[in-house]
Amino acid sequence: MNLNEYQQKAKEFLLPSAQNLQYLSLGLLAEAGEVADVLAKAVRDHEGKVDQDKLSRELGDVLFFVATLADYYGIRLDTIGQGNINKLTDRLQRNVIQGFGDYR
Ligand SMILES: [Mg+2]
Repeated sequence: MNLNEYQQKAKEFLLPSAQNLQYLSLGLLAEAGEVADVLAKAVRDHEGKVDQDKLSRELGDVLFFVATLADYYGIRLDTIGQGNINKLTDRLQRNVIQGFGDYR
């Protein structure tokens, strides 16, 4: 499954009441928090050893909201993925992969 196929499939699970910016943006933040919670529990309770199944499920939830939020604005997921790789490749080639700022 490629990114666009995933994005199209993910949309099928959005309830009508969830097809709005408020739900999609809050959902993304909530799921990012759940990723952080899995990592925090690993640090607190398991000497940093992460439960990969739990982490994978929460990262999948983040992916769902990234895909559906992007779709809300008509942005294809493969465009986002390729754009990010292009940005990182450019930074690596210019030796500015470290540092701060979106436009370095
Ligand atoms: Mg979750």
